[in-house]
Amino acid sequence: MTLKNQNKQNLHRLILVTNREPFHCVDRDGKIYIERSTGGLVTALEPAMEHAHEAVWISANHENAISSESVQQEIPYRWIAVNYDKSLHEGYYSGFSNRVLWPLFHSMIGNHMKFQIGEWNHYQEVNREFANTIMQISKSDDFIWIHDYQLTLVPDFLRKRKIDPNIRIGFFLHIPFPSYDLFRTLPWGAEILKGMLGANLIGFHINDYSQHFFNCVEAILKIRCDRSRGLIYYENRVIRVKAIPIGINVVKVHEFVSDKAIIASSKKLREEIGAKCLIMGVDRLDYTKGILKRLSALEKFYERYPKHRRQVSMIQLAVPSRTEIEQYQELREEIERLVGHINGLYAQPGWTPITYMCRSLPPHDLFALYHAADIGLVTPLRDGMNLVAKEYVAAHHNNAGVLILSELAGAAEELTDAILVNPYDDNAMADAINTAVRMPLAEQKRRMKKLNEIIMHYDVYDWVNKFTSEAYRND
Ligand code: UDP
Repeated sequence: MTLKNQNKQNLHRLILVTNREPFHCVDRDGKIYIERSTGGLVTALEPAMEHAHEAVWISANHENAISSESVQQEIPYRWIAVNYDKSLHEGYYSGFSNRVLWPLFHSMIGNHMKFQIGEWNHYQEVNREFANTIMQISKSDDFIWIHDYQLTLVPDFLRKRKIDPNIRIGFFLHIPFPSYDLFRTLPWGAEILKGMLGANLIGFHINDYSQHFFNCVEAILKIRCDRSRGLIYYENRVIRVKAIPIGINVVKVHEFVSDKAIIASSKKLREEIGAKCLIMGVDRLDYTKGILKRLSALEKFYERYPKHRRQVSMIQLAVPSRTEIEQYQELREEIERLVGHINGLYAQPGWTPITYMCRSLPPHDLFALYHAADIGLVTPLRDGMNLVAKEYVAAHHNNAGVLILSELAGAAEELTDAILVNPYDDNAMADAINTAVRMPLAEQKRRMKKLNEIIMHYDVYDWVNKFTSEAYRND
């Protein structure tokens, strides 16, 4: 795979830095194998690795205590794991990253959210370990690209360690950035902002998030910003702030849904489900994804439009995530209760309203599901971007299909030919499902064509290209 408009930035060595490891070990019958990690982030970043003439991936290594050097020969690029003290993991990862920053940045703070100094200290220590590892291997002219909310302090730690000023540092936030009113509740907000400002370029998915960031920098740090040019002047440096929405590998999705075996599986799935119309929901099992509200909307739909019972079924895939956090365990139980309630209320012999799967699917089965579904129901309560929405669109590039999309997903900025809904309004969502079920084929195809034009133009290669070009701008 090559990038469109290859540019000279790919002559720099790329150091990609993420919390999540690109590979992990699996134990099969006592033998250890290396497997590629699934999920949006790793999939999105592989084209950046392909793009660079030389690349290193630095990540945490918390799933398995393996030495990266021992598996070098089995993976396509150099991968270095940051092996920080295990006692820091709970505070850094489950605690500060996922019980504080994740809900806060998704504007979903509640009484359960606690700011604990111990967790903050562990977060700082792990970020410092990442910076130490980068310092050990970096050399003049590298491009260091740091990703996401778990590593906001790394750019500034690199500056404090006097990293070579020739090295460009990029930081991309994959989740939303919250409004000043919410961000100001964070006792260590100033430190997080300063941490990010260590970068030369700070990227967000959409303009709303960058404007929120500017608001916070101005109000909390009292720093001069030039919003019209997207620049911040700080510590004798100029920092660029830009909205660069992430895309998907469209060609890869096209290959999947043209594969004869996947098409056959899709057909078989349709036969097994039986209903005339199939709705799909595909999410990590996370409260930001709005699965409970979506199921309530489906219940309302069956209640309000009884003639669609037996005609319309849903498959909901929920991939277990952050299972060590109590809130996620409770959510799983609530979802299972609600699925049972709806199926108990409406199922008839030979027809089940909701088929619920709580596991991850291999790509073959996942793309068969995308291909089979007449309606993609993607209704997060808040989402930085949402790649599932884009993958569903790509899977329907040459046929009909309707995307119902939350207005509160970053993807809604680009995918305006979807049916856009408020994910908190289950009545409106029930009506949107009815509209989608009844939408004429010609209208479905017209919308799908326009949606596909957008995702093909702004694909993942375009994102990598734009980010690297921006990082090396000097004007
Ligand atoms: N996904 C996967 N296996 C599954 C279900 C989903 O690898 O069984 C992938 C999906 O293809 C998508 C990603 O997980 O690329 C989810 O990304 P999204 O931006 O929608 O949500 P996130 O989980 O990153 O919040």
